[in-house]
Amino acid sequence: MNLPLQLNSICSKIWDTVKFGLILIDDKGEILLWNQWMVKHSGISVDIAINHPIESLFHEGITPSPSFRTAIKNALSYKLPIVLSSALHQSPLPLYASPVAAHEQNRIHQSITISPITWDENTHRFLIQIVDASIHVKRERVLKSQSDQLSKDATTDSLTGARNRRYFDDRYEVEFGRAKRQGTPISLLMLDVDFFKQYNDHYGHQAGDDALIFIVNIIKTQLHRATDIVVRYGGEEFLVMLPDCTEEGCIHLADKLRTAVFDQKIPHHGSGIADCISISVGVATKLPETDCTSAKLLQTADAALYDAKRKGRNCVRHRVVSV
Ligand code: GH3
Ligand code: MG
Ligand code: MG
Repeated sequence: MNLPLQLNSICSKIWDTVKFGLILIDDKGEILLWNQWMVKHSGISVDIAINHPIESLFHEGITPSPSFRTAIKNALSYKLPIVLSSALHQSPLPLYASPVAAHEQNRIHQSITISPITWDENTHRFLIQIVDASIHVKRERVLKSQSDQLSKDATTDSLTGARNRRYFDDRYEVEFGRAKRQGTPISLLMLDVDFFKQYNDHYGHQAGDDALIFIVNIIKTQLHRATDIVVRYGGEEFLVMLPDCTEEGCIHLADKLRTAVFDQKIPHHGSGIADCISISVGVATKLPETDCTSAKLLQTADAALYDAKRKGRNCVRHRVVSV
């Protein structure tokens, strides 16, 4: 570059002051400019970098990523600008925030732009700008985990940690659609704590809350498929949706849940049927050949639960959705 001496030294001060990496290469990929930001974060001095092909500059084993090599090759061949965003290409070059980070191979997240500069028809140069995107990546991760937490909060019952009705409605659409496509049954368990009003009256509302939390945790320990979810349907009533489970299978599971709660022997001296907490369970199954809304499945499970209550509580009753 034939710049007047003073301008040349001002330019060199500017590119060594900027807080991002600046590399200028010629049309063979050899380095003409390597600023101080690059020295600091690559550990490679200006003397070593200048006139070196950018491809072979970094140490063996710590090479630029294939996406960076391809970007350079394409920029040189087609003389087009290229952007490597930090979202898609986290850390193309071996650049580090500190010697400790270098030792741990913990690269800076980078946003890279390659811009062709045409001096004249036959002279092309390529300016590579590298911005430290670590702060943006970190902020994006925090925002993502906050938004994951918010959507979990919006679908979770705050007392028991079970899922809420909104989550159930969404899941039902998904699972019902899948059951229909695959021709598999879908079952719903409706669980209700027996004589819970008397439990509150006898032990107090706080003890009642603790018992509900405990019961949900017991139920969760008995469910092993990712698709088997516990939903708080109302006060002391819970749902468990069981996609692709046979009639016998879901009746067996319902009784396993009932037994698991009963076996905890949580004292309940106000109960009309035992001296500890028990649950009644209504099971509704929709067979592959029947069509049915979530309301119809809920109604059938509710009717089966009513059967269990009438039968004396602490038991399981089953109904199939009628066509
Ligand atoms: P059944 O065996 O027929 O189900 O009798 P039950 O007493 O359990 O049924 P009922 O519907 O008469 O009473 C339900 C009770 O559940 C009344 C209400 O105080 C209690 N309950 C509902 N939600 C909560 C809650 O969040 N915390 C506590 N502690 N109690 C609750
Ligand atoms: Mg109830
Ligand atoms: Mg009850």
